[in-house]
Amino acid sequence: MRIVDAHVHLYPPDANRDPAGWARKQGETHWEILCARVRKNGLAVQGFPSVDELLRTMDAAGVDRAVLQAWYWERHDTCVLQNRFFAACLAAHPDRISACLTFHPGAGADAVLQELRWAKDHGFCGVGEMSPHSQAFAVDDPVWREALQACAVLALPVMLHVTEPAGKGYPGRILTPLDDFVRLAREHRATQFILAHWAARLPLDPQLGPESRSLLNVAYDTAASPLLYPAGVFREMIAAVGVDRVLFGSDYPLNLYPREQTTPEMGRFVAEATGAGLSAVESASLLAANAERIYGL
Ligand SMILES: [Zn+2]
Repeated sequence: MRIVDAHVHLYPPDANRDPAGWARKQGETHWEILCARVRKNGLAVQGFPSVDELLRTMDAAGVDRAVLQAWYWERHDTCVLQNRFFAACLAAHPDRISACLTFHPGAGADAVLQELRWAKDHGFCGVGEMSPHSQAFAVDDPVWREALQACAVLALPVMLHVTEPAGKGYPGRILTPLDDFVRLAREHRATQFILAHWAARLPLDPQLGPESRSLLNVAYDTAASPLLYPAGVFREMIAAVGVDRVLFGSDYPLNLYPREQTTPEMGRFVAEATGAGLSAVESASLLAANAERIYGL
């Protein structure tokens, strides 16, 4: 069975060598907190693999393609640096790797639109992972809104980071009010959105669920699911939105099973998804076809 992991993070070699030092130098204060997180048992929350380590991890788990997600950097310079790194990954491994770009509206409309066009020309398949709330720009920021319109024209879907409104706190956690996502999707119907981490199960929300389910330009990914929800979330969410709107994504190199595993990998989550009680047709949609269609792979 073909498997596409639609939510994989990868950082430039300089960041991998010394994540906190690099973050400090770049002025990325939020990521500086996130990258250093350690669990109570002393295990690092995430790894910092090279592109070659990523490819070996994919091979071990039977993953055919990874969609690289950039990061919600606070500075546009860092976004550009990340995008150039991804362009090199795309050029080196077009058979295994796709990539999304990132930007910061604070750079102004010209710089952002130029970066979007550059990315389209270099084979990027979308925008992500973005987070207005973490990047500290308003959901109504005019440059952000203009960029979302441009994404519709350029056929670049936009993947957004979503956190559980009432979930457990963790260092560096930033609240992302769910009604903001519904409003963005309602006001930009020609733009395709992918809401990460099951969108905090937004489609099941008593108030916002009905409208979110009716917005057909919204899809959902499964990133970090084992850290957030019991395995039943697959059936629950697929029943709510239909199997065609759910994309398999791991959030590698986050360690998804910190009680059982010391280092991040993808195989166990692939097994959890394939064992979620789905039919063969549903599994094929979830594990590859939806990402291929929505990201145009
Ligand atoms: Zn995320």
